[in-house]
Amino acid sequence: MTEMEAFIADLPKVELHVHIEGTFEPELMLAIAARNGLAAPFPSVEEARAAYAFDDLQAFLDLYYAGMNVLLDARDFHDLTLAYLERAHADKVRHAEIFFDPQAHTGRGVALATVMEGICGALAEGERRFGITTRLIPNFLRDLDEDSAMACFEACLAHRQNICGFGLDSAERGHPPSKFERVFGRVRQEGFHVVAHAGEEGPAAYVSEALDLLGAERIDHGVRAMDDEAVVGRLVREGVVLTVCPLSNVRLRVVSDMAGHPIGRMLERGLKVTINSDDPPYFGGYIGDNFRAVEQALGLDRTALAAMTHNAIDGAFIDAGHRARLHAEVDAYTGG
Ligand SMILES: [Zn+2]
Repeated sequence: MTEMEAFIADLPKVELHVHIEGTFEPELMLAIAARNGLAAPFPSVEEARAAYAFDDLQAFLDLYYAGMNVLLDARDFHDLTLAYLERAHADKVRHAEIFFDPQAHTGRGVALATVMEGICGALAEGERRFGITTRLIPNFLRDLDEDSAMACFEACLAHRQNICGFGLDSAERGHPPSKFERVFGRVRQEGFHVVAHAGEEGPAAYVSEALDLLGAERIDHGVRAMDDEAVVGRLVREGVVLTVCPLSNVRLRVVSDMAGHPIGRMLERGLKVTINSDDPPYFGGYIGDNFRAVEQALGLDRTALAAMTHNAIDGAFIDAGHRARLHAEVDAYTGG
C-alpha cells in the first residue's frame, strides 16, 4: 500500500449519497432469494457481476429493480443494511445518510412498515457495533407521477421519527424537478430536509430547478452544473454541497473516464464537493474505492481529499455538536 493509499484508508469519512437497495452484493442477493424460495435474478454470482456492464442510467435501473425484488421481509432489509454498514465501517465511515426507495417496495406489495423495521433495526445495530451514526432519507421515484410521490410522503409520516428528509431519484431525463414542486412543498411544510438528484444525466437547468422549486439543500451529483457558469457561480456563492459519485459517473458514462472527471476542477472552482459511492457493487466500489480512484486519476493531494470529508460534514443533517466532533476527528487525523 502506498503512503497515499494508507492515508485514504484511514481518513474518517462521511457518506451522503448511497442507495441502500444499490448496495446489494450478488452473494447476499442470491442467498436472500434462496431463503425466500424465489427464483434468483441471476443464476450465479459471476453472471450477476457480468450483467453489471450497463452503459446508461436506464440499463442500470432495470437491474437495480430486478435485484430488489427478492427483498420481502424485515430480516431481508436488515441484512442488506447491516452488510452496507460493515463495509462502510471498514472504510472508516463515521456518519452516513442513507437513501431508500419506498415506492419500489410498496409498489410490489411490501409494506412500508416492514421496510422501515428492517432498515432502522440495522441502523441501530450498526451504531452500537461500529459507532456509525446515520440518517434515513426516502427518495421519490421521479419516473412515477407526483400523486404517487404524495401518497408515499403521507405514508412516511407514520415513521417520521426515523426520517430526516426526502429526496428525488431514478431516471432523470424527461422528469424535471418541477414535476414534484407540490410534494416538496409539503415536505418542507412538515419540517423535513430536502435533497434531490439533479445534473447527473439531466441538464444544469435541473440543478437550478431543484434549488428554486424544491428547496433542495444539497444536490445529489450535480456534475452537469459545470456546463453552465451561472449555475456554478450560484452554487459557490450559496455554499451548496454536491454529493458527487465518481465511479458511478464513469460507469454510467456521465463522464468518459476518471481522468476526464470534473471533480478536481469543481474543487478548484470553489464548489463544495463530496465523494460518495451511490450504488457500490453496481458501480465498482465503496466510498474508499471512490477516493482511491479519484486520487489515482487526478492526483489530488491530502488537503483536497480531507476537504471533501469536511464538506460532507458541513452538508450533513446533524446538530452543531455532532458536526464539531466530526470536524475535530478529521483534523486530529490530518494534523490540521
Ligand atoms: Zn444516486
